[in-house]
Amino acid sequence: MPVTAPTATRPMPTVPAASGAAGRTAIVTVDDDPGVSRAVARDLRRRYGEQHRIVRAESGEAALDALRELKLRGDLVAVILADYRMPEMNGIEFLERAMDVYPGARRALLTAYADTGAAIDAINVVDLDYYLLKPWDPAEEKLYPVVDALLETWLSSDHKPVPETKVVGHRWSARSSEVREFLARNQVPYRWFPSDEPEGQRLLEAAGADGLKLPVVITPDGETLIEPSDPELASRVGLATTPSAGFYDLVVIGGGPAGLGAAVYGASEGLRTVLVERTATGGQAGQSSRIENYLGFPDGVSGDQLTGRARRQAAKFGAEVLTTRDVVGLEINGSARTVRFSDGTAIDAHTVVLATGVAYRKLDAPGLADLTGRGVYYGSALTGATGCTGQDVYVVGGANSAGQAAVYLAKAARSVTILVRGPSLEKSMSYYLIQQIEGKAIINVRTCTEVAGASGDDHLEQLTLRDTSTGATQTVDAQWLYMFIGAAPLTDWLDGAVMRDERGFVLAGPDLVHDGHMPGGWPLDRPPYHLETSVPGVFAAGDVRAESAKRVASAVGEGAMAVMLVHRYLEKL
Ligand SMILES: Cc1cc2nc3c(=O)[nH]c(=O)nc-3n(C[C@H](O)[C@H](O)[C@H](O)COP(=O)(O)OP(=O)(O)OC[C@H]3O[C@@H](n4cnc5c(N)ncnc54)[C@H](O)[C@@H]3O)c2cc1C
Repeated sequence: MPVTAPTATRPMPTVPAASGAAGRTAIVTVDDDPGVSRAVARDLRRRYGEQHRIVRAESGEAALDALRELKLRGDLVAVILADYRMPEMNGIEFLERAMDVYPGARRALLTAYADTGAAIDAINVVDLDYYLLKPWDPAEEKLYPVVDALLETWLSSDHKPVPETKVVGHRWSARSSEVREFLARNQVPYRWFPSDEPEGQRLLEAAGADGLKLPVVITPDGETLIEPSDPELASRVGLATTPSAGFYDLVVIGGGPAGLGAAVYGASEGLRTVLVERTATGGQAGQSSRIENYLGFPDGVSGDQLTGRARRQAAKFGAEVLTTRDVVGLEINGSARTVRFSDGTAIDAHTVVLATGVAYRKLDAPGLADLTGRGVYYGSALTGATGCTGQDVYVVGGANSAGQAAVYLAKAARSVTILVRGPSLEKSMSYYLIQQIEGKAIINVRTCTEVAGASGDDHLEQLTLRDTSTGATQTVDAQWLYMFIGAAPLTDWLDGAVMRDERGFVLAGPDLVHDGHMPGGWPLDRPPYHLETSVPGVFAAGDVRAESAKRVASAVGEGAMAVMLVHRYLEKL
């Protein structure tokens, strides 16, 4: 594709010729001050010039021209760095328009200290990833770490040019939603093709599938899987599912923040570590659209980015990460702890960290069970969000998870209604989220309201809502319902193995000792260590532990602390 000739009088962007550089992804920078613009481009070129094409412009319009030109050439843009204070079109306005051309490019704003308020607002308006304060030197400390993180995020998104998995399915098929969710949560890049659209039909035909059984998954090397199970899918898209050894120093059960924390610290400190996860690493945190209270991320971080990095970190240190393996038993065989899987196989270890978290409760109202996965979803907002474009969405729950989901879904939906049983959000939701919700006109909050029923043929069409104070009911049109309604630990499989409280949470450390008495059957002279359960060498970390804080940071911290106690236990073994 030829490069278009400059046509306008405004300063033209510097788009390097495609020859030789073709195929390299671009980093685009815009600043109206020519000196600053050149300096940013120079610094970017110094570090990224070999791998990336650096494109600079001196106005928002010129930068948009450059983006359109890159688009026409079929080039990829990974990062866009915009100055905030520019005449005619400020940085936020520019980024908003740039998103129309390259929605997947990561976005950062360059601001003066006085403009940080605007930059913070931009986090919501244009889903800004970072803002950088001027001056950005030394670039090694201020600019490069930010651009490195943006590139890493972009690379791990489904915009990167890698061979991809294709999923052909129906948007109202429950299994199609589950497969998409599974791939997304395991950070497997995929593209979605609705089976009732021409490209989806072409793929089905090419795969020789009749489309009666959906989804059909086509792996990057062209293998066709019809309605695959999670383990089948995992093994075909390159996720490890079987342990490489029979004995480990540490088995971590559960791949949420607590389990990932334990795996990172365990493996980095030389323990032979395996992490076993029943579905996808990330746990509840992986379903969070933006975690704003995790230390070190002043602009928030999406849960899948945070946990995706943690998973890579665990693997880098040598931890084995197994997915789609459900642990159903824990046995004590002398000093070995045996962890049994649902297929009957088992692995042994010196120590175990239980990090199985909690799972959302299901709502028991007529019609909901039938429509789950077909318009009704529990605790997931990320994968379905694009399907909500221009439609009416309901979110049930009064805690932060519901608030985050509502803010996220509001980007695409026509309206978002939060249904809360109580009289207000104040008691259960953080102030910052309430403010965000109040700032979005399309989000409504209905207090004293619960879901009394749902109906629809192929998918959700109507909800019956009940006023909890009067009992009056009302039927409303609704295509999407997301529920975030309290969670319970799934620890029945630990019955008889470790002590739990009346709600099923695992007791550990001081919670096991009453009036100086050790828990029944405790075989040692010392009391249990802080996170140790009623079985020596078996520890509990994160949300599954009784009295835990139910926060990402505390789960990660407990995972790390459990490893410190594992070492103490192993020293005395
Ligand atoms: C939508 C949402 C938004 C949130 N936002 C925030 C926030 O902004 N800030 C914050 O601090 N906290 C937030 N939280 C809470 C936070 O995510 C949790 O406190 C945290 O994830 C707990 O981590 P965990 O590792 O203990 O458990 P989990 O995250 O629950 O992970 C447990 C993992 O164990 C696996 N597992 C369970 N049983 C088994 C088994 N038998 N075999 C194998 N694997 C098993 C599960 O599949 C799961 O992946 C949010 C939660 C949700 C749902």
